[in-house]
Amino acid sequence: MTAPYEDGAETPQERILIVEDDKAIRSLVSTTLEQQQLEHVTVSTGRAAIAEITRNSPDVVLLDLGLPDMDGVELIRTVRRWSMMFIIVVSARSEEDDKIAALDAGADDYLTKPFSVDELLARVRAALRRVRYTRSRSEEDKSTFVNGVLSLDYAAGSVTVAGTEIHLAPMEYKLLCLLARNVGKVLTYKYILKSVWGSSLDQNLPSLRVFMATLRKKLEKTSGQCCYIKTHVGVGYRMLRVEESHEEHCEYCHQEEKDVPPSSTCLTKDAKENQTGKE
Ligand code: CA
Repeated sequence: MTAPYEDGAETPQERILIVEDDKAIRSLVSTTLEQQQLEHVTVSTGRAAIAEITRNSPDVVLLDLGLPDMDGVELIRTVRRWSMMFIIVVSARSEEDDKIAALDAGADDYLTKPFSVDELLARVRAALRRVRYTRSRSEEDKSTFVNGVLSLDYAAGSVTVAGTEIHLAPMEYKLLCLLARNVGKVLTYKYILKSVWGSSLDQNLPSLRVFMATLRKKLEKTSGQCCYIKTHVGVGYRMLRVEESHEEHCEYCHQEEKDVPPSSTCLTKDAKENQTGKE
C-alpha cells in the first residue's frame, strides 16, 4: 500500500522498506524506526518485497537474507537490474563468504544479527545521508526531466510532448515540475497546496483540481496518453513513470475524480506501438 508523504514536509520523506520474516525482529526494527519518525513499510517475503520496490521505489531497504520464498541474495540480484536504492543486509549469516556474496550481488552494507539498535540506526542514518546527497546532486545536475514522450527543461522553463512544445499556465507548470521531481511518489493534496500555493488551506483545493485537470488535458491532447498523472482519490496525485502507466492505465482513468472524465484518448499502449513503428 502506498502511504502518501507527510503533509507540509519540505521534501517527501525518505522511505525505508523492512524485509524480514521473523515477526519479533520485524516488530523491533519497525518500532525503532517509528521512534525516530522514519517512514517505513514492512513485508515478510521476497515476492512482497519485489512488488513493493517495483511500485513504490523505497530509498533504503533493510533486507533479511533467509526469506521463506526466496534467498535474499537472489532478491538483491533481481532488484539491481533496475534499481540503485540503498540495500542494507541484516542477517544472521556471519561468515565472510556470505557477506562477500551479498555485497558482490549489489548490497551496500551488511549488519549481522544479533545487532544493536543503535548500530542499526547509525547505518540507516548513513544510508539516508547518501540518499539525500545523491538526490541533491542529481537534482542540481539534472536540468531536464524525461518521462516517455514528456520532456521538461527546468532551466528554460519549457515543456515538450513528443517534440511539440506545449504552453502551460505558471500554476500548471509548477504542478508539473513538482510531480516530475517526485515521479512515482504519491503527493498529498496538502503537500501540493503548500508547495505550490504556499498554503495548505482547503479553500485552494478546487483551484488545484482545476489546474490539474487543465494540465492533464494539455498533456493528453499532445501525447495521446492519459495516464501521466494518477489521482489517488481523497489523497492526492502521483506522476507515473511511463512503463508503469502501461500496466495501470485504463484501470485508473475510470477512477478519476469528476474534474477529469475518462479520456477518449486512452491509447497509451497503441500510441507507444505506433511511435515505435515509426522509428
Ligand atoms: Ca529470516
